[in-house]
Amino acid sequence: MSLRHHQGLLALACASAFSAHAAPSDLKSQIDTLVKQDEAQMIAQFKQLHRNPELAFQEKETAAQVAKALQEQGFEVKTAIGTTGVVGILRNGPGPVVMYRADMDALPIKEATGLDYRSNKVTPWLDNPSQPVMHACGHDAHTTWLIEVAKVMAQLKGQWSGTLVLVAQPAEELLEGATAMVNNGLYDFAPKPDVLVAAHVSPVYPADSVGLREGPRLAGTDQIDVELPGIGGHGSTPHVTKDPVVMGAMAVMGYQTIISRMLDQSKPAVLTVGAFQAGVNNNIIPVSATLKLNLRWYDEKVRERLIAGIKSVTQGVLVMNDMPDDYQAKYTMKGYSTPVVNGKAQTELAQAALVHQLGADKVLPGVPPLMGSEDFHMLASPYPDTKVLFIEVGSGKPDAYKNLIEKKQLPPAMNHTPGFVVELPAIATGARAVSATLSAFFNQPL
Ligand SMILES: [Zn+2]
Ligand SMILES: [Zn+2]
Repeated sequence: MSLRHHQGLLALACASAFSAHAAPSDLKSQIDTLVKQDEAQMIAQFKQLHRNPELAFQEKETAAQVAKALQEQGFEVKTAIGTTGVVGILRNGPGPVVMYRADMDALPIKEATGLDYRSNKVTPWLDNPSQPVMHACGHDAHTTWLIEVAKVMAQLKGQWSGTLVLVAQPAEELLEGATAMVNNGLYDFAPKPDVLVAAHVSPVYPADSVGLREGPRLAGTDQIDVELPGIGGHGSTPHVTKDPVVMGAMAVMGYQTIISRMLDQSKPAVLTVGAFQAGVNNNIIPVSATLKLNLRWYDEKVRERLIAGIKSVTQGVLVMNDMPDDYQAKYTMKGYSTPVVNGKAQTELAQAALVHQLGADKVLPGVPPLMGSEDFHMLASPYPDTKVLFIEVGSGKPDAYKNLIEKKQLPPAMNHTPGFVVELPAIATGARAVSATLSAFFNQPL
């Protein structure tokens, strides 16, 4: 974004200074004062959450803390929606329903940051009785923002009108938590949102800034398990077995030609086999193999082609290996979400509010669409006319964005790596950015 564009946005923000509830300059300083006042407490809360990460659908202690904090601010609270999800509602007069989501789950990663507040936690997970767990995607920061935003919005109730719905969501990393909440009664309790907002830390922006861009932001995704049948036997007599390890290997290689030979090359897609599980020992041919696939796409037709391709390649492998017809592959469709697309009007409104709150030089142009994914917008899946907005809050070092733009250099530790660190100024920045954005959606409904 050019400097001239920034100045234009600043003018736009100032031009809207006369809202029904408060002059934004007044609101701006009140948000800043409240967040500044709470910053030390927020950082302590963030560190506490960072030391105590909880895996997807196990976020019990985190959820309990959120529920307590929302109740203290006068929200109507419902817990245990979609296992551990929490919803808080603050009804504050007529106006739009604005929903804001934070995710709570951590990852099965052993932390290697060396921070004095690092996680040493282990927890049972799958077959591992002591899996190390880490907040390696910043969901501890997101939960901290949610708690502070509840406080700021409750204290500034005189400055906005409408209904604020805060959602603390489980299992974003599985792309299952938002859908679980919808399927487990979210809207028996919460009203339909007019706008749904989420913010996520990103180490490619400095921790005192945000990144925002209209249009496609994050890819649609599917997690699919493919179970290939085999006929097991002794490792010395493969000719009387049907070896699922060999069939799995053929399938993995065959899948790679779906992207390169079956899809329109102008349309982005990813197919990753993230796990190949089969067998237990050297001399036993197992009875099945499981491949755990991850798809990313922006176009629904690409998704359909990917899934059809996976099925035809898998079926082809079984035929090539003379598997009897009564042995069929099993497909388990797990986490799914559609692409995240920021609407033009919502992006412009948030951009003006963020420029006003943080300063023009702290609102950076969002990087091009990523093949990463989110599921927050699946909270709005029953309501296709709900508008969604995804904001990235910087969590990186001061030179992170400059290095990316000028040297094409990514930060050394991205999300989902053992060295991932949220730089602490991001804690206050996120709370200021989200409070300003939500206030704008209340005071200038679209
Ligand atoms: Zn993540
Ligand atoms: Zn994340």
